Amino acid sequence: MVPKGDQPEAETSGAVLPVPPGGHRLPPLPYPYNALEPYISETQLRIHHDRHHAAYVEGLNTAELALVDERARLDFSLVRYWERELAFNGSGHILHSIYWTNMIPSGGEPTGLVRDCIVSYFGSVRAFREQFFRAALDVEGSGWGVLVWQPQWGRLEILTAWRHEDLTQWGTIPVLVVDTWEHAYYLDYQNRRADYIRAWWNVVNWPDVERRLRLAMAAQVPMQSYGGPAAHGPMPSAPMPGGPPPGGTGLAEPPPGPGIPGVP
Ligand code: MN
Repeated sequence: MVPKGDQPEAETSGAVLPVPPGGHRLPPLPYPYNALEPYISETQLRIHHDRHHAAYVEGLNTAELALVDERARLDFSLVRYWERELAFNGSGHILHSIYWTNMIPSGGEPTGLVRDCIVSYFGSVRAFREQFFRAALDVEGSGWGVLVWQPQWGRLEILTAWRHEDLTQWGTIPVLVVDTWEHAYYLDYQNRRADYIRAWWNVVNWPDVERRLRLAMAAQVPMQSYGGPAAHGPMPSAPMPGGPPPGGTGLAEPPPGPGIPGVP
C-alpha cells in the first residue's frame, strides 16, 4: 500500500478522508524554523519537529502496519505491545500537530468566542491562565498542558497528560496544548520549565484556538441511549462564574440525523 499521508481537514463539511494504515506523514511547520525566536530558538524547534515529532509519526505507522499484519495472520500474540505503541505514538503525533499550529510569531490575547468560553467557565482569562500555567508546570516528568472542549459537558476544561496519552478524559477535543517534555525546551531553558511556559504565552495563536474550538463544538458524544433521559441529569441551574457567554456557547441543536433503521 502506498501511504497517502494525512489528509487536510475539510472544514466546511467536517469530513476527513481516511488515512490508510501506516500512511501518516510529518506535517510541515506552518512557519520558518526561526519564526518563534526569541521565545523558541531555531535549533530547538528544528530538533523538536524534525526528530522528535518525526519519531512519533514513524512509531504510529509501524504500529498500524504491525496490526495489519497481525490481523492478516490472526496472530495477536503481540497485540498488547502494539496497542500501547498505537496509543503513545498516535497521541504524540496528534498533540505535536496541534502544538505547531497553536503557535504564531506574534501572539496576543484570547478574544471573541474563545474569551467568552474561558470567562464563562474559568471566571476570568487571568484565572484560566494561572490554572493552565500551574497545571502544565506541575506535570510530573514528561507531558502536556491541554485545554479541551468536552462535548459531553458542553464546555471547556483543562487537563494534563503524562507522556502523551495518560490522564486524559475520553471524548475531549484538544484546542490548545503546550508541550512540557524537556525535549521541547531544554536547549533554550535547560530545566526552567516555568520560563519556557511564560515565553510560550507570547506565541499562542488564539485565532487557531478559536478555529479549533468552533470545529470541536460541532462534535457530539451522546451520554444517553437513543431517545432516553440524560445520564448526567439536568444541567445545574446555578450560573457559571462570569455568566454565560454572550449569544450562548455557539452550540446549535444537533441537526436531525438519518435516524436508526427500525427506530421511530
Ligand atoms: Mn514534544
